[in-house]
Amino acid sequence: MSILAIGSVAFDNITTPAGRAENVLGGSATYFSLAASYFTKVRVVAVVGDDFGAEHDHVLKKRGVDTLGIERAAGKTFRWGGQYLENLNEAKTDFTELNVFEKFQPHIPAEYRDSQFLFLGNIHPALQAAVRLELSDVKLTGGDTMNFWIQGANQELRETLRLVNILLINDGEAKMLANERNLPRAANKVLAMGPQALVIKHGEYGATIFFREGAFGFGSHAFRAPALPIDEVKDPTGAGDSFAGGFMGYIASQEEVNREVIKRALFYGGVMGSFTVERFGTERLQSLTRGEIDARFQVFRELTHLE
Ligand code: AMP
Repeated sequence: MSILAIGSVAFDNITTPAGRAENVLGGSATYFSLAASYFTKVRVVAVVGDDFGAEHDHVLKKRGVDTLGIERAAGKTFRWGGQYLENLNEAKTDFTELNVFEKFQPHIPAEYRDSQFLFLGNIHPALQAAVRLELSDVKLTGGDTMNFWIQGANQELRETLRLVNILLINDGEAKMLANERNLPRAANKVLAMGPQALVIKHGEYGATIFFREGAFGFGSHAFRAPALPIDEVKDPTGAGDSFAGGFMGYIASQEEVNREVIKRALFYGGVMGSFTVERFGTERLQSLTRGEIDARFQVFRELTHLE
């Protein structure tokens, strides 16, 4: 099974209580692909500028990620700057420079058209929708977005939400999107916009999935997984996308998509997010082993197990 991911490939400037990093490789598609690469084959559709070198491409290729769909355009790669000085769970954006994304028209290579899983990473919702509409064989579409697009491209985002099966956003974004401060009520409002399931990420407190009535088989309406307590949080950037990578990657590696698989996927998402925050940028995600991932999944299981 393979997942096609669209999203940003970026250079980030990050400030956290543990220090500062400049021009580090990041972006929603980058974190997602690296995390998902431990579970399944990943293909990326994105655009980069002339400042994106072979060494950056190599970071993805080394993990077996197919980068054929990353277009090179004249100009600068997407850039984002953010800080976590007041709150480690939510970035405060310093700047967003779309650069080559401003004129980007996604082109899906013929080799990618048989993709059965699709992840619409954080990027302009019109680009997300364009990619979904071009792929007819897709079995399950996951999606992400953020305040920048909820406020800046709300109408386009509403259209995109109708094309997404599972939306993954954080609690602040869910409340903003629904214009509702109570979490379950916000979740119901977002589910009414289209997705069959909504994963709400609570940063260091874990994640909750809300299912639309009857979606993915019957059962409980919501399920929550805690986050693994981590002693050393250096840089939360990319935790959300890595969560999505572990979540979607695990789902794509299973024969059937049902509620039990989705619940386990929530734990694998948490595991991948927990690795990412231990180092700046994508460093930790570049050299994991499946053994380390499964060992942490086991710790996670024990943390929550009740006889
Ligand atoms: P997260 O997983 O939410 O921490 O995502 C972090 C990544 O999102 C960073 O590497 C940024 O480059 C990227 N990013 C930030 N803002 C945007 C945006 N408006 N559109 C797309 N990607 C973004």
